[in-house]
Amino acid sequence: MDPTRFQNVPQEVSTGRLPGWHRVEELVRQAHERYAEESSGAVADYIPILAQADPELFGIAVIEVAGGVHDAGDALHPFSIQSISKMFVYALAIAEHGHAHVRDIVGVNNTGLAFNSLMALELNAGHPMNPMVNAGAIATTALVPGATPAEKWETIRQGLSAFAGRQLSMDGEVYRSEAETNDRNRAIGRLLVGYGRLEGDPDEIVDVYTRQCALSVTTHDLAVMGATLADGGVNPVTGERVVSADVCRDTLAVLASTGLYERSGEWLFEIGLPAKSGVAGGIVAVSPGKGAAAAFSPRLDSAGNSVRAQLAIGHLSRALGLNLFASAPHVQELS
Ligand code: GLN
Repeated sequence: MDPTRFQNVPQEVSTGRLPGWHRVEELVRQAHERYAEESSGAVADYIPILAQADPELFGIAVIEVAGGVHDAGDALHPFSIQSISKMFVYALAIAEHGHAHVRDIVGVNNTGLAFNSLMALELNAGHPMNPMVNAGAIATTALVPGATPAEKWETIRQGLSAFAGRQLSMDGEVYRSEAETNDRNRAIGRLLVGYGRLEGDPDEIVDVYTRQCALSVTTHDLAVMGATLADGGVNPVTGERVVSADVCRDTLAVLASTGLYERSGEWLFEIGLPAKSGVAGGIVAVSPGKGAAAAFSPRLDSAGNSVRAQLAIGHLSRALGLNLFASAPHVQELS
């Protein structure tokens, strides 16, 4: 599909509204109460320090584009952003290089395989397929502006801080724990170089990627970051323009098909929102023009998605009418 074919067509935007602040607040509390007893899933342990997380932690946050804030449970407890960083770094890469260039290099289709799969690369002649799996995310990190790895890292830290509306910093313990054990990601970096898909020193790029995954955030931060994408690129809390509305649309479109790894189709079918998860237990879902819902709890399903966070966001999507595919008759049916 050649996007230049639509060049002179004006871009209109049509979304809907959230119910009033009190109703949203009530539903956030209801979701927290309802899923706090859910105990299925297991805490990630392939990054040793993540295994120490308290499995009972559970936070929910909703940020409205109009500025309304809703935090419940452990919404202010810090944890590492992990894979959720991928969507924001992707937004920064598109802002720098444009939609078509990043699409050609990284791709926008689901691999159907696990997030850390090497086989997905082998099956596609080294093409990462999408920016939300580790191979595509490492290739995306390489595209971020910066002459040195330290400069790239600073671009990412500053960029994600602008999305969050506060200065984010890296959790050094999480970084060291992953850096000591991330042989798979280093292998992915080398394979990308081997296929001519990555320029520069792969270990340096993987190191920047490992740092970005170790950024410390709260559930509240994730909701602000997501709400910035829901608000056409303007952070609804700080008022700062972080990226363009086009970058938001591109990022959300990729998330819709890839944000929950090989469960993305199932997620879209049941919940109907672009979303991204990370192995520390966070998930953020974005409702364009309305806001974002984030949740955090460390126990994960077998694809690496937090069980309680999926339930909490599913509940909110349904009760707040966020599902992008839900429709109702124009004329109310007479009963
Ligand atoms: N840092 C993790 C990794 O690269 C992120 C994965 C995730 O959150 N799914 O393996």
